[in-house]
Amino acid sequence: MSLFEGGSIETMIVMREGTTPVEVDHVLERLAEAGARGHVSTGDTVTVIGVMGDREVIAGIPMEAYPGVEKILPILRPYKLVSREFRTSDTVIEVGGTKIGGSHVALIAGPCSVESREQLLSAADSMKEAGASMLRGGAYKPRTSPYAFQGLGVEALEILAEARERTGLPVVTELMDPRHLDAVAEYADVIQIGARNMQNFYLLSAVGQVEKPVLLKRGLSATVDELLMAAEYIVKEGNNRVILCERGIRTFETATRNTLDLSAVPIIKQRSHLPVIVDPSHATGKVDLIEPLSLAAIAAGADGLMIEAHPAPEAALCDGGQSLNLREFACTAKRIAELVQWFGKTVG
Ligand code: PEP
Ligand code: MN
Repeated sequence: MSLFEGGSIETMIVMREGTTPVEVDHVLERLAEAGARGHVSTGDTVTVIGVMGDREVIAGIPMEAYPGVEKILPILRPYKLVSREFRTSDTVIEVGGTKIGGSHVALIAGPCSVESREQLLSAADSMKEAGASMLRGGAYKPRTSPYAFQGLGVEALEILAEARERTGLPVVTELMDPRHLDAVAEYADVIQIGARNMQNFYLLSAVGQVEKPVLLKRGLSATVDELLMAAEYIVKEGNNRVILCERGIRTFETATRNTLDLSAVPIIKQRSHLPVIVDPSHATGKVDLIEPLSLAAIAAGADGLMIEAHPAPEAALCDGGQSLNLREFACTAKRIAELVQWFGKTVG
């Protein structure tokens, strides 16, 4: 069942540092008496309660007088649960022993699509060796042409699971159709929602009800706020483990496949507590731009990168022109790790 049946969070109650569960329950009980509901978010140091209900009624409760309450803040942005106002500290997401957010930078890499067992296992071994923290690979592919390779489906999911067993790397794969949700959720460690589905609201609500982190890619023509509203759909259902991904947007520029909007990284970090990563492969479509833009993304404060790499890019069934070969990936990964370290952060 949905966490909230309609309505939205208009007010936030910030609890004092060291508040007790009894104090939090006391506030929740008082809200319930007033016909309102609270959504508790516990951070490293502060607990905040997002309040849904009649703003006037809530304003009439002398909430500041309650033990443990520090202050009441209205939430002004259209998105609530994903906003910085709702949670001031960075969200850190743990996936299969690796972390993303805060001082942890995720290096997600692998081929665009799982094409065969040999191809994926070869890529997975190299990604692991080069220090990647997660493995990517598409099983269901959003292709512009219906005649292009569409992915191996469940067979690819099984191969991804084998690669995880072998390398210990958590796997990220895209979900396009709610009918595949159970299968993808069973095998994947992180469920990717691709650019084309960023505003597929039923799909967003569906992954909001699953206990797996979601990697949400920015739509081809979506604004930052539209991306954050899409994330709100997922978090509203109870799944607060959402990773945002800037993957380039459509502009008049034709020198690159899309235009990487690097300014989105610090802007998202100002507006939201969720981790944000950059995908320089889909953003540019050009293999020689992957390294410079990966480094630029880290410098801009990105919490991770998603890079396409393939054992034989020239023979790839999808996106070979924007995929590093395995040797190139190892070199680029090394430079990324050096820069990450320079910023006092760690990969994974
Ligand atoms: C992908 O990551 O495989 C992909 C299709 O990316 P996007 O949705 O950003 O186009
Ligand atoms: Mn691709």
